[in-house]
Amino acid sequence: MIKPNLRDYTIEEIKELMKTLGEPLYRGEQIFHWITCKNAITFEEMTNLPKTLRAKFSEKFSLELPEILNKEEDIDGTTKFALKLADGSLIETVIIPERDHYTLCVSTQVGCPIGCKFCVTGKLRFKRNLEVYEIISQVVLARRYLKEKGEILPLRNVVFMGMGEPLLNLQNLIKALKILAHSKGFNYSRKRLTVSTVGLLKEMEILAKEFPVALALSLHAPTDEIRRKLIPVAKKYSVKELISACKKFPRIKNSRITIEYVLIKNVNDSKECAIKLAELLKGYPFKVNLIPFNPHPDLPFERPSSDKIERFQKYLLSQKILTTVRKSKGLMINAACGQLGAKFLKYSVPDSMYKKTAFRTS
Ligand code: SAH
Ligand code: SF4
Repeated sequence: MIKPNLRDYTIEEIKELMKTLGEPLYRGEQIFHWITCKNAITFEEMTNLPKTLRAKFSEKFSLELPEILNKEEDIDGTTKFALKLADGSLIETVIIPERDHYTLCVSTQVGCPIGCKFCVTGKLRFKRNLEVYEIISQVVLARRYLKEKGEILPLRNVVFMGMGEPLLNLQNLIKALKILAHSKGFNYSRKRLTVSTVGLLKEMEILAKEFPVALALSLHAPTDEIRRKLIPVAKKYSVKELISACKKFPRIKNSRITIEYVLIKNVNDSKECAIKLAELLKGYPFKVNLIPFNPHPDLPFERPSSDKIERFQKYLLSQKILTTVRKSKGLMINAACGQLGAKFLKYSVPDSMYKKTAFRTS
């Protein structure tokens, strides 16, 4: 029998388990603390728990983490892990060093059914959504890795910008966010948990209602015409609808909603695009993050020149729109935005592992 993984459970659910076992509720809090803050991987480690309880739990539950198949480190310090899940599926997770902390970029799906034209993950056929424990496990693995390396800087931010479209795995995403933010566990500030979405309106509304965190919208174009050429799902929602959904999205501690914009040569990098983008965004405190296109031999686009990128940014700044250019970290190891899964495309995964699945949104 396959044991359920305890990382799938919220603190409330673990306390419920205690009730059914006739144990005091604070034991539930202790266990939750062990498997989150303390990154425990066995019940034996939980030394403040009676031995009998540890034995009971290890009989009933698993704390297994995915197998690290491969680890690559870029000279800029970015570290990418290829992880093998229990069913053999492969995902990637990336640790990105920043000045005073680390950011972890986690995956939410095996492959991605959206199929954006500029993204390697979108070229992988979609296999399945990740379970809650598979999302949480990426955080635990990264924290353990940094600790074992003796790193003192904290893993402070978790961004849902890895493989997959987080909002297509909405219920598991929300549960994982609740576990990550719980004050008796990892205690991540909601401001430091960022969900990046290609822009699924209904799901954005549900996230806003159920558990809002920092939001990043992958806009990539100021007009529906250009956007629809890049993102198949853009046919469903207009740019205007998405921007007004962002304006309604709760701003955690007054933080700004991020607009992500992959700059692609001769596609969306013109002065005219910058003018239209500024018009679209003016009057609301957005933050634009320009991401110079990260090339890959399987993708039919090019990165604009640094000069063009700078001009695009300068125009937006001149219109009083806060605009940053994302530094592409991990380029040498194919760990930059949009490059995840590149290896799986060519080497590791037989095509038969991925069944073509029509994707649905609500
Ligand atoms: N599916 C979600 C989150 C994962 S993609 C989303 O699309 O938002 C994370 C970010 O990487 C998105 O903004 C995406 O547009 C960007 N990205 C994808 N391919 C890229 C590429 N080749 N170069 C630069 N950024 C890319
Ligand atoms: Fe999926 Fe995001 Fe890549 Fe588009 S950019 S294919 S939504 S992972």
